Amino acid sequence: READTLAAQLSRILVWWLDLRRDLLPGDRLQLLYEPVPGPGEFRVLALVFSSESRGLSRRAYYFKAERATYGRYYDEQGQEVEKRIENGPIQEYEQVTELMDASGRRHRGVDFKADVGTSVTAPFRAAITRVNWHTRGNGNCLELRYLDSGVSALFLHLDEVLPESRPGKIVEAGTVIARSGNTGRSTAPHLHYELHAPDGRLLNPFEFHPTARRSLEDTDLAAFQRLRKRLDQSLSAGVN
Ligand SMILES: [Zn+2]
Repeated sequence: READTLAAQLSRILVWWLDLRRDLLPGDRLQLLYEPVPGPGEFRVLALVFSSESRGLSRRAYYFKAERATYGRYYDEQGQEVEKRIENGPIQEYEQVTELMDASGRRHRGVDFKADVGTSVTAPFRAAITRVNWHTRGNGNCLELRYLDSGVSALFLHLDEVLPESRPGKIVEAGTVIARSGNTGRSTAPHLHYELHAPDGRLLNPFEFHPTARRSLEDTDLAAFQRLRKRLDQSLSAGVN
């Protein structure tokens, strides 16, 4: 159980750097610091160094919680987030992307955002609400939008609730709160599942369809991060290689 949760934690960081469908290569090296957190078998990775001779790659990630942030996140040595963010995405306050869409969409058809139950879910674009709460055994409470400019359909699954005013046929502007995220249907932890379909039904990767960016720490947050990073680097270099 410990090994599984640790492996899951690691893959959620490495996935932004590597194609995890391929095995690790000879000469790939992984060094990490982690600590137990409350909950059975739960760990948090505090720092991670990945280096690969064959890929010519060396990356570092450090866990840090900015002063005003709800959740801690992973940053590189310059204080830039490891994860990309969707600009004007469906959920602003989330802890981590816990699963991306795989290339074919066969293993996972959308993107999972880990977030506390009750977090606001917003319409990324001006849209028509086309369906709510269908196949609820699997989907849980759910909502579908059709983006008016692109004709793309967006599914929001495992919601705590669809807001009462979010009724099929209604037009909502970009940024409108439409639902609260939850843990309903076939879901084992609180998260939002966000899935996109082109008008012809083809799956679209949300991280390709939307503009994305990486955020960086600034000012006092950046200074605090750099102090923490130095301490973590010392612990890493004191460890056994
Ligand atoms: Zn999902």
